[in-house]
Amino acid sequence: MIRLFLIGHTYKYECEKLCQIFFPLEKPVFPAEDDEAGEAAATVRITLETADQTRRCRCEAWLKDPARKSEAEEILSARSTDEEGIARVAVKALSALTGIKPPWGVLTGVRPAKLMRKLIETQGEAAAKETFTTDFFVREDKTALAARVAQAEITLLRDDRPRDCSVYVSIPFCPTRCSYCSFVSHSITQAKKLIPDYIRLLTEELAMTAGIADKLGLRVRSVYVGGGTPTSLSPEDLYTVTNALNRCFNARNTPEFTVEAGRPDTVTPEKLQVLKEAGVQRISINPQTFSNEVLQHIGRRHTAEETLEKFALARQMGFDNINMDLIAGLPGDSVDGFCASLTRAIDLAPENITVHTLALKRAAKIVTGGETGTVAAKTADMVDYAGKALTAAGYGPYYMYRQSRSAGNLENVGWTVPGKACLYNVYMMEEIHTVLACGGGAVTKLADPPTNRLVRVFNFKYPYEYISRFHQLVERKDEIVRFYEG
Ligand code: SF4
Repeated sequence: MIRLFLIGHTYKYECEKLCQIFFPLEKPVFPAEDDEAGEAAATVRITLETADQTRRCRCEAWLKDPARKSEAEEILSARSTDEEGIARVAVKALSALTGIKPPWGVLTGVRPAKLMRKLIETQGEAAAKETFTTDFFVREDKTALAARVAQAEITLLRDDRPRDCSVYVSIPFCPTRCSYCSFVSHSITQAKKLIPDYIRLLTEELAMTAGIADKLGLRVRSVYVGGGTPTSLSPEDLYTVTNALNRCFNARNTPEFTVEAGRPDTVTPEKLQVLKEAGVQRISINPQTFSNEVLQHIGRRHTAEETLEKFALARQMGFDNINMDLIAGLPGDSVDGFCASLTRAIDLAPENITVHTLALKRAAKIVTGGETGTVAAKTADMVDYAGKALTAAGYGPYYMYRQSRSAGNLENVGWTVPGKACLYNVYMMEEIHTVLACGGGAVTKLADPPTNRLVRVFNFKYPYEYISRFHQLVERKDEIVRFYEG
């Protein structure tokens, strides 16, 4: 628990996020001033005062002993917002207290590259980088990474038009649950009886959504089937879904049609054949690591050999745009082990390699199992190595996001060889256009970048709810029309 006192302002959410950079697994609480500290890991007081037109921010923080507190203070300049000043004093005081220098400085948001892109577009790259390092305390190498991603995105987004959109389809089933996973995903064995209804209603939702998109004159730029693990479906069900996407959205003729094959243990020649015939252009085959020991430790029921075999099969069948996901900071992995996995992935020459950092979400078994201790410490070295090795191998970073409570407060980065970047990932991260999402747990994002208007429409989270409350979901689709037609 972190005791958090806010004086003279109400930036509660922002201050919680800042504290979580330093104490990722502690819950921030807002006690009364005279409450006992009890078992609190730390106490943080953040003050904002305005007197004689001068704005002053102060942060005081201590662990157990208030006599040994760290303090930071700043008089805000005219160009600084209250929020930025608060973030700077909090990071200064908490860094001094804990010895942690957050690589992304005061930035707590999930989209640092989006911020960088906007700064580049308004100030130019040099000034944008200066703002990152000086005002936001972002480390030089992370600033450079954000700028590389932002420039790649600027190029990829240059053909974007008003009324462009993407389509996302959620298949929230997996063969088994991995220990680090915090997504809503159901074991295919347990959910078997739900699948026929799920697929039937999903195709209904796709047809209904396509009708709306058509009526509104939306242009589909990418179609993405994710999860979960879409290839945990049978070949017949996969056919039904991809066929519906072709019928409703002409998916095979959009610039990008991706299906996440995800776990190699779900990939079969029959399923790849279905995807190939449906015109799927891009798939993912995700090793996460090439260490069988680590795979076993995290509850992934496949082997490194199986990944190699399924990758070779996909290549033989003509898939020429394949992504591989790796995770830095997996429990049981070492820096050397991660580097060896990355080298193996690079040797296979997939078009995309995505390097994730482990998300320390409370819900995942790994946290409740108390295994997090040393994970965060090694992750930064793994991520640094990945950046250098991938750059040397000819990959460039093209999209990036951060998850809250990721190990070491780091980032997930998508790397690509030239000309093979996944457009959907960029559209999603930059919130550049509407994403029409279908299926259980899917979230439609209606976006109007010129006005920064963003409306989310949530589908029901769990497959059984999606099935039993489908009629309510139908009503929610009206939101799409209201967004565009007022
Ligand atoms: S395959 Fe992915 S979505 Fe499924 S349980 Fe594992 S991590 Fe979660």
